[in-house]
Parts: sequence; structure tokens; C-alpha cells
Amino acid sequence: MAKIELSNVTKQFPDGTVAVSATSFVINDGEFFILVGPSGCGKSTLLHMIVGLEGVSSGEIRLDGKVINHLDPKDRNMAMVFQSYALYPHMNVRQNIAFPLVMAKVPKKEINKRVEETAAILELSHLLDSKPRNLSGGQRQRVAMGRAIVRNPQAFLLDEPLSNLDARLRNQMRTELARLQKRLGTTTVYVTHDQTEAMTLGDRVAVLNKGVVQQIGTPYELYRQPGDLFVAGFVGSPAMNFFPVQLRDSRLFFFSLDLEINFPESMTLPSQHQYAIAGIRPEDFYVLSDESGQHPKQAAFDTQVDVVEWLGAEVLIYFQIKNNQWPDMPALTRDLNLDKKSGDKWQITAKLDASHRIKEGDRIKLTFDIDKLHLFDPQTGERLT
Ligand code: ATP
Repeated sequence: MAKIELSNVTKQFPDGTVAVSATSFVINDGEFFILVGPSGCGKSTLLHMIVGLEGVSSGEIRLDGKVINHLDPKDRNMAMVFQSYALYPHMNVRQNIAFPLVMAKVPKKEINKRVEETAAILELSHLLDSKPRNLSGGQRQRVAMGRAIVRNPQAFLLDEPLSNLDARLRNQMRTELARLQKRLGTTTVYVTHDQTEAMTLGDRVAVLNKGVVQQIGTPYELYRQPGDLFVAGFVGSPAMNFFPVQLRDSRLFFFSLDLEINFPESMTLPSQHQYAIAGIRPEDFYVLSDESGQHPKQAAFDTQVDVVEWLGAEVLIYFQIKNNQWPDMPALTRDLNLDKKSGDKWQITAKLDASHRIKEGDRIKLTFDIDKLHLFDPQTGERLT
């Protein structure tokens, strides 16, 4: 069992920097839990506090119900894998994997048995006598994992373990890691700045910004119901498109389009201001062909394609909407770098099936399903629907 609980954990460094601010969450036994966010958001500091490399300024960290704030890292029974792998160059693979057991004075026979077992799990058996310099990046990464696995710890803590690998190997190791974690069933906390890694690996993902957890959820929840503008803009690639919309009664006005939306009763419209920020994911647009029998009220962007990027089965298309009558986006969206307005034009990206054979300069009509439209409060950034 390894359930990790954080209650009101804060980290303030001596220079006054608050890296993590009053953070609480629970990582369940056996869970693959991801901490993701942009550089400097505090994810490594959180991981270091869990493993004991950094002390907490206030709050409590518990492992299976027991407070571990004051335990040394070696007494926490957690194994950390660093981005740099931290392998000893003068030791071979066998000695590198065995190292934590040697330090713990485990009998030699037992060490040999556990190293052999670990090497077999990681398909490193044939490399046990090799030195790190003779290994590929992926093999080095596996040796670093081996050194963690061999201890049979209660939890693995991984800090950007794939970031030194090239893109192809990173994808391969990502799948290997996911498979390994499921096989071992060990609670795993994984730090990354890469939202794709977070979404593909995590049972649950915590999205951090400026030392604060913005949202915790399954990858599907974060994608379908982002709780605020930050999460909406961070999760998904290419990023969600954002633009201001006007709300009047139960109708939403979208540039020059008049789109009827039945707002759910549970939804509080921001009555103090007339605007909301709408978000549509590029992949939620689709082409409205003349034959598709457009509903008279169906909103469509009738637009000219600026740029087409071919991805294979899909294409990314970029277009602009000229609009003078809409307000600038609020400061919040500028801070989050979500504002795609240049001059009086709004930049929009759509991801479409390549079979449409769209070319630069083509005029097309694009639409989207209402249930794929996200609305956010322009002042607080919080989700409205
Ligand atoms: P990255 O992905 O770039 O490593 P991160 O999300 O892991 O970023 P942290 O390394 O946890 O972020 O840092 C969070 C904040 O705390 C940053 O503003 C960083 O500059 C600051 N920080 C980290 N370590 C210290 C330290 N020892 N003293 C002062 N400030 C620090």
C-alpha cells in the first residue's frame, strides 16, 4: 500500500519565492499520477518535498496515513528517477542497478537475485556487463528505472525521465513505462511539462500554474471539462481557440453569427458583464458542405483558408476573422498568452480530415457542435458551462 496525501503543503524558499502554495491532494495506491505545468510552476519542488529532498515550509505529507515530513529521503521507501539518470559511469549495468541494495547492506546472494529479476523485467539481461557509455539513451533510461525498481519501493517518483530522448524513442519509452507501471502496480508520481505525456500516461493529472493546482482529473475530464482558461489552453494540441462572445438572454452572439444556445439552468451567466470567452478545440470544427442541409440557425464560419499544414490523415488549417466591433480580450487572457488577435483580426486553427483536400485560398464553411463549445468567465477565467 502506498497512498500519498498532501494537506496544505506550502514551500517558500529563503529568498521569499513561494514555489508551492497551500496545496492539497491525494494520490491513491497504485495510481499513475502526473504533475504537469509550464516551467517554474513548482512541480519539481512538489516532487522533491514528497521524496524528502526539500523540506516543507508548512502543511503535512502522509504516506499511508503517517506523517513523513521529518523523515530523511532514505527512510521514506520511495525511489526517485532523475532526468539525467544519474548513472555511475565507472560501474557496469549490474553494479548500477545493484547500488541501492549494496548501500542498504542487503546480502550479496539476494542482491544478485533481485538484479537478475529486475534486468529481466526491463530486458537488460544481455547488457549487465556493459558500461553506461556503451548504452543507447533508451537503455540508460531503463537502467535508471532498474535502480528504482530493484529496491521494491512503495512509490516511484520520476522527474521528466524522458526529456533527454529523441522524439521517436520518447514515444517508445512512454509506452514501456505505462506497461511497466501497470505490471508492477506501484504508486507513481511523474513530473513533466509535456501535456501529451501527461495525458497519455496518467490515471489522473494535476495541472499546476504558479505554485497552485488549477485542476485534478482524468485526462478525459481535463480535455472535455477544463475547469478554467489556463487548463483549457494548456491541455490539447494544437491549443483551443479562444474569442469573446456576447451573451444576451439565452442567446450567444458570435462575431457576425447569431447562434441560439439553450443555456442549462444550472449555469450562471455572468450578468455583471455582457461577454464571455468562448473556446473551441481545433479538432471540434467540421466542414459544412452545401449538400449537408445546413440548419438555418446553425452557426458557421464562412472563411478563406490562409495556411494549410498537412499532417497525414488530417490537416491543420489557419484562417483569420476580421472584426472591429468586438472588444479586446481581457487582461487575463493576455497573461495566459491565449489571445490570438493581431490587429483587428482573430487567428483561428482547425484540424480537419485530409480527405477534404482543402488548399490555401479555398473558401470553406466550418461549424461545430454546441456541446463542444466551452464558455469561461472573462474576469476569473472559470468555466461557466
Ligand atoms: P522546471 O520545469 O523549469 O523545472 P518546475 O515547475 O519544476 O520548473 P520548480 O523547479 O519547482 O518549477 O520551481 C518553482 C519556482 O521556485 C520557480 O520560480 C523557481 O525559480 C523557484 N525555485 C526553485 N528552487 C529554488 C530555490 N532553491 N531557491 C529559490 N527559488 C527556487
